[in-house]
Amino acid sequence: MIVHHPSEATLAAYAAGTLPEALALVAATHLGHCPVCRATLATLEATGGALLEDLPPVSLSIDALDRLMGRLDQPAPPPPPVLNPDLPAPLDRVALGRWWAIGAGVRYRPLRSNGAAWGGLVLAKPGRSLPRHGHSGRELTCVLSGAFADQEGTFAAGDLSEPDVDHDQPPTVIGAQACLCIIASEGMRLRGLLGLAQRIIGR
Ligand SMILES: [Zn+2]
Repeated sequence: MIVHHPSEATLAAYAAGTLPEALALVAATHLGHCPVCRATLATLEATGGALLEDLPPVSLSIDALDRLMGRLDQPAPPPPPVLNPDLPAPLDRVALGRWWAIGAGVRYRPLRSNGAAWGGLVLAKPGRSLPRHGHSGRELTCVLSGAFADQEGTFAAGDLSEPDVDHDQPPTVIGAQACLCIIASEGMRLRGLLGLAQRIIGR
């Protein structure tokens, strides 16, 4: 039962293809779990298509239609190989770095992504806090397994956290199971050990 969803602004940016890659991967992970957001996304995409129909026509080169039809005959490129069979789509096909210990009971595995955001997996043992950080841009966290709690509530598998304030209370793993999350952020103001790890590892 998913309780926490991305904002409509984030889903609209995802539909428009303007979310940086790392944030889009977190949003797509939530969408894989959430039929409610998939329905909202379909509506947003249909709205985008309707807006395209209202754009003024532009002139094309004389062979544009032939070139387009030629592209339709080409086979679709094969999907990227599955690199992480233990992770849900689309994370199963993304390149990840190695695991880094970033504190007692907390490990971080960076995502090899392009664009204006960084991201990675965070695995924290029961009772441990997820990295505490400030937000100078958008930040998304999707729980893959286990659960954490912060001032906005409890987040379990499939839930997406999109805080618009700094974490006064760092997210803390609850329950007996370790919590695995995918986190992405445009903000670079990480504090503490994850900030240090980020400077050592790079993006
Ligand atoms: Zn949702």
